[in-house]
Amino acid sequence: MASSWNKFYRGYVEEPGLEEVGDGIYAYLHHDGSWGLNNSGFVHSGHELAVIDTALTEDRTRLFREAMTRRSGVDKPQVLINTHHHSDHTFGNSVFDDACIVAHRLCRDAVVKQGLKPTDQDPIVPWGSLKVRPPQLLFDEKLELYVGDHRAELLFVGPAHTSNDIVVWLPEERVLFAGDVLFHDATPITHGGSTAGSVRALNTMKALDPRVIVPGHGTVCGPEVLDQWLGYFSFITDTAARTLDAGLSVLDAARQQDLGEYAEWQHPERFVLNLHRAYEELKNGPEAAFVDEAAAFDDMLRLNPSSYGHRIIKDREAYIDPYSSIERGDAPVRDPEA
Ligand SMILES: [Zn+2]
Repeated sequence: MASSWNKFYRGYVEEPGLEEVGDGIYAYLHHDGSWGLNNSGFVHSGHELAVIDTALTEDRTRLFREAMTRRSGVDKPQVLINTHHHSDHTFGNSVFDDACIVAHRLCRDAVVKQGLKPTDQDPIVPWGSLKVRPPQLLFDEKLELYVGDHRAELLFVGPAHTSNDIVVWLPEERVLFAGDVLFHDATPITHGGSTAGSVRALNTMKALDPRVIVPGHGTVCGPEVLDQWLGYFSFITDTAARTLDAGLSVLDAARQQDLGEYAEWQHPERFVLNLHRAYEELKNGPEAAFVDEAAAFDDMLRLNPSSYGHRIIKDREAYIDPYSSIERGDAPVRDPEA
């Protein structure tokens, strides 16, 4: 993966880039997979092209579209799939204003409700010119899509990360685009979703027997990461049962709990969000569970005030988008020893 000199960071930033995961099937990876740095991808055959997810800002989505066009030779994708409504996956929808957007029925409602709200909360992020473009073709459980010779199955697996998660499964190539139902080397986040539902979704994905998985954040991985996440959710559920029984608040439980191997994953403080969800599901059942997401996010920031970096602007001089400021052409030659 290429790195570029970034004058604001005064250092090298790993550029987003394409990775071929099957014949004509590509992941587009935003490093390092932290908040808002999601993955997308595309499936290509002849003059047919289907895109899977966009990016958080107009700039990043245009970089993705340019890379895709260079690689595929196709300028206009016919279809854009949204794996769920979150801003990092859908804010670039309007950059693909010539494609039909496909998603779960609940995703459309969530995209409309979300609007461009995060742009008000983070005025310093270089959002670019964004327009809300909600999904147009909706399904409930399963939709089949052909892209040339490629057959893709769009499968609803929610609620898991959110209420409206779908995965894109290419059975012949055994490639799975997991959306945010799976990250690689980063802590899960049930952000409007479900802990019990996440376990169900992970088992559904495991039963598909994928060869390669493009997670929603982090590098391309194999099916062993599904087992790692099943282990994490067992850990969450067991901790919730024990600490709820002991009468601990979610925040106190999270403060006391040794995360063991999971402390190595990116954003371990998301543990408290997941614990909020697990508490509610134990108390009221997964269907009736209600989590005050704003309060849960506040608890996460109590555990790690720098977690949601671009929301805590006072901690930084300014939020700089590492990709929109990549310098091209005149970057210093990288010293491999540096
Ligand atoms: Zn998400």
